[in-house]
Amino acid sequence: MSVTRHDWTKQEILDIYNKPLMDLLYEAASIHREHHNPNTVQVSTLLSIKTGGCPEDCGYCPQAARYHTDVEGNDLMSVQQVKAQALRARASGSSRVCMGAAWRNVKDGPEFENVLEMVRTINKLEMEVCCTLGMITENQAQRLAEAGLYAYNHNLDTSEEYYKEVISTRGYEDRLQTIDNVRKTNVTVCSGGIIGMGEKVEDRAGMLVALSRLNPQPESVPINALVAVEGTPMEEEKPVAIWDMIRMVATTRIIMPKTQVRLSAGRTDMSREGQAMCFFAGANSIFAGDKLLTTPNPDVNEDMEMFSLLGLEPQKPFVKKAQPETVEAKDSKFEALGEKPKWSRPDHSIERNEAAKYKSKKIVADK
Ligand code: SF4
Repeated sequence: MSVTRHDWTKQEILDIYNKPLMDLLYEAASIHREHHNPNTVQVSTLLSIKTGGCPEDCGYCPQAARYHTDVEGNDLMSVQQVKAQALRARASGSSRVCMGAAWRNVKDGPEFENVLEMVRTINKLEMEVCCTLGMITENQAQRLAEAGLYAYNHNLDTSEEYYKEVISTRGYEDRLQTIDNVRKTNVTVCSGGIIGMGEKVEDRAGMLVALSRLNPQPESVPINALVAVEGTPMEEEKPVAIWDMIRMVATTRIIMPKTQVRLSAGRTDMSREGQAMCFFAGANSIFAGDKLLTTPNPDVNEDMEMFSLLGLEPQKPFVKKAQPETVEAKDSKFEALGEKPKWSRPDHSIERNEAAKYKSKKIVADK
């Protein structure tokens, strides 16, 4: 039986990543079968509850206000709108709804109260609820937990070294602090990253070192392939080769045997054969729905056809962990503290992020 280790070195991970492919696949698939049913795949629906206008400068993200992309901003959705979308997701086979808001960090106030109500509403639909809202304090994590949150997503994105080439408006330590705040509750952690941002294979390994050292390791790890959106600093990055995706999934599976490894952004560019190899290599979760926040994703019917072709079944909700209880707002033990934590603002500039900002200004000026 494979054991969960928290002391992986970058070199050990690189040695795994670079193995002959057949050896890598065999090892990953064997570990996968020890810990998971290889014929079930967890299906999540990602819902953008507040789109665009984000003050951060993540180089891959079309929702950053400073880049000139086609994303249309939207204010926070209503609880009723979210409930309708969750019911639709459940009817099409999703066991989890992940709500994303383009915020740097959560601020106490009416919008967060609304998000808490969304969490209560979806949990009562017997679906797993996940949120990705940016950086949060321990008190905010506790309040989300009390509302019935099942998972909180906060990606490390890449290695600590390469992070400085992707984002300049917050530091890696802030990511780790938020994950730590979530860990103080009974909410599970979802944290992964993106490949294809111009990073080296060493950076992919560096990210896996950081994730694997978290104790416990994240319950789910999304592996995204960059979707290079026009207007973002990364618009010219080449698509990720399927072999890189398969190697990344297989390596993640070996390093983190118990986690759910999720195929996330970039699936529209993957053939069914490519996705099947990823499932064989240990991926056991996907995002469903025709959009992933703002980028395209395969149609739900296409996914269900693929499942039927491969003999895969959608995983039922709460198989890995019991459903959390929902405490109503009036019975809450935690109140908003109105904290203003000092999240970092690193003092460095990233050439391609600055160029994209300048380009957007130029396009607007030229119009
Ligand atoms: S990834 Fe999130 S934090 Fe970064 S710019 Fe996009 S919405 Fe904002």
